[in-house]
Amino acid sequence: MGYWKKHQKPDGQKALEELDAMGWKIENPPKYYTVKCPCGSHARSVHLTPSNPGYFQESVRWAKRQTCMNEEEGQ
Ligand SMILES: [Zn+2]
Repeated sequence: MGYWKKHQKPDGQKALEELDAMGWKIENPPKYYTVKCPCGSHARSVHLTPSNPGYFQESVRWAKRQTCMNEEEGQ
């Protein structure tokens, strides 16, 4: 699943799939993935073997907080 190189951690792969579903672009590592938002102003690295177990979900939450993502939250 996905056009990127599959993440070796299931949680990491799941996070990349969520980012992909949000319209973010995923660039393959040499050292880590780089994810880029649809507007092109926001980017973040996603590491392969983070020590923090919540790291991948934090990455997704971070992405959802970016200004270009917030236009859908008008509730
Ligand atoms: Zn953006």
